[in-house]
Amino acid sequence: MIEPDAPDTDVRPERLSACCGLPGRARPRAYATSVTIDLHTHSSASDGTQAPAELVAEAAAAGLSMIALTDHDTTAGWEEAGEAAVREGVALVRGIEISTSRGHRSLHLLGYLPNTDDPRLAIELARARDSRVTRMDRMVGRMAADGIPVTIEEVRAQVAPGATLGRPHIADALVAKGVVGTRDEAFATMLHDGSPYYVGHYAPDPVAAITLVRGAGGVPVLAHPFAVRGAEVTDELVAELAAAGLAGLEARHRDHSLEDTERALRLAGRHGLIVTGSSDYHGTGKLNRLGEHTTEPREWSRIVEQSHGVKVIGEGGSVRKVRR
Ligand SMILES: [Zn+2]
Ligand SMILES: [Zn+2]
Repeated sequence: MIEPDAPDTDVRPERLSACCGLPGRARPRAYATSVTIDLHTHSSASDGTQAPAELVAEAAAAGLSMIALTDHDTTAGWEEAGEAAVREGVALVRGIEISTSRGHRSLHLLGYLPNTDDPRLAIELARARDSRVTRMDRMVGRMAADGIPVTIEEVRAQVAPGATLGRPHIADALVAKGVVGTRDEAFATMLHDGSPYYVGHYAPDPVAAITLVRGAGGVPVLAHPFAVRGAEVTDELVAELAAAGLAGLEARHRDHSLEDTERALRLAGRHGLIVTGSSDYHGTGKLNRLGEHTTEPREWSRIVEQSHGVKVIGEGGSVRKVRR
């Protein structure tokens, strides 16, 4: 199955300009002091700009008590993040964000605390990563054929060791070559899913992904369910996913309007789902700030109760008090 909209496409200029009016590279250091739990962040193991240890250190500096590392289709950042979590005194929830696809709809599924020794999950994640590599080759090939001066070697040079190759790395290569000025410009002009250079990639059906995460002892939560990515996610689809074992909905997210959040809360109530709120932080690559949305401790405890994969690292899984 080919996914029409990819996980690394969250750069949507119309949303960015509607936000706080901040320049793309300026990351504000003033964080809310009441936030504690941020269950959706990315490191350079996928398309974030910070190494896992840097991300955890930043979370500590931001006063967060718990973060989940949820890189796209990879757990390569877990070990480094785990060591940093112990050092920094931040509780680390090991997680993933799996790209799934149903028809023309792209859905991202967060999986919290899955056991990655589970062979079915490991195979599926490897398949998704392999598909990204061939997809990048094909995208770069299409661009080169059209006279855009970029090679796959230049794209690979932008990828941190162990990281998941993605469109942001093509964007970075184009910036490095001076073809475009910024990542956002690359996405807006050449890398968006309507572009002639765009190539989709393998993604499992969301029900299959939910089954995989549950089978590995993890807890599946649908990421930003109503952020615009292809066709609309219907109430019926949410009902189907809930019946298939979905545990929760990420209701509060930068890409949700107030109506989207209210709809998610309503559906969560109807189906008995956990409600989360998270930043989807990517470092300096996007405007999302750590802790800009958070998850209530009582909702987090519902996630822990359902997990039987790996443990939370640091703080014995408890949520400690905010530092400042
Ligand atoms: Zn996502
Ligand atoms: Zn994400």
